[in-house]
Amino acid sequence: MAAQPEDKRKKSLKVLDLPESAGPAMARIAFRKLAFGCHPDLHGGDPAKARQLRELAEAHRIVSESPVSGPPPGHLWTSPPEPVRGRDLHYRLRLNFIQAALGGEVLLRYGRQIACPACKSGKKSDCLECRGTGRVQAGTTPRIRVPSGIEEGEILRLRELGEEGLSGGRAGDLHLLVSIRSHPALKRRGLDIYSEAKLSGSRLREGGSIEVLTIGGERQIHLPPHTFSGKTFQLKGAGIVRRAGDFTERGDHFVRVEAIRNEAEIRDAYLSSGRAVSAAAKGR
Ligand SMILES: [Zn+2]
Repeated sequence: MAAQPEDKRKKSLKVLDLPESAGPAMARIAFRKLAFGCHPDLHGGDPAKARQLRELAEAHRIVSESPVSGPPPGHLWTSPPEPVRGRDLHYRLRLNFIQAALGGEVLLRYGRQIACPACKSGKKSDCLECRGTGRVQAGTTPRIRVPSGIEEGEILRLRELGEEGLSGGRAGDLHLLVSIRSHPALKRRGLDIYSEAKLSGSRLREGGSIEVLTIGGERQIHLPPHTFSGKTFQLKGAGIVRRAGDFTERGDHFVRVEAIRNEAEIRDAYLSSGRAVSAAAKGR
């Protein structure tokens, strides 16, 4: 009388040194491990080793093809957990005008899911920290580098600053949608910066040096006598500097001088920023 399929499976599990809950994946791992130790090529064609290898192959086949029986009560056997990649996070990054123009380091502050430090993401159902989910929410404050001249609506992708993975899985990425606050005195088009300097009529007639606010700080420009209102001066290289590999692009700063015509404009001039404006309004 032929052996019952269950008996064959039990015998094969014993050959492969596996628990009753083992399925095809574990059978394959066990077979490879054991087969390595009795491969005839490694033992000069030893017939005993060859027979053992045939037995292992047969046991592997039987376990792979037989239905998995559940673990006996009170005996829990789990396979090693699969690595789980952390999710990507999406946040908005608000930069002021100068930060976006100059670039540089920015300190971020946001919340993300990390592997539970209490149970080391063992997903213990009685863990009070994570309630068995294996993850907890935590604040993080990484420093990131923003490239100079970043534009409104650009997306910065930062590898592995998203949610932490579990069981050795890679962390997700952080995606930042850039929005840039406007500046009271400066405008931008590509890498070039634009501003206005409001000056009194007498100042334009006499000429002299005035201070101009640029993204790199205040710069002096020299006004020749009898400068007409509406004239634009160019400060070469005082705009945004953008580097791409070995290649460097430099924008310019364009400042347009305007005569102040009436009392209302003088008040506006006081309210807008830039020393040139206030110096002119004081009649210096
Ligand atoms: Zn936990």
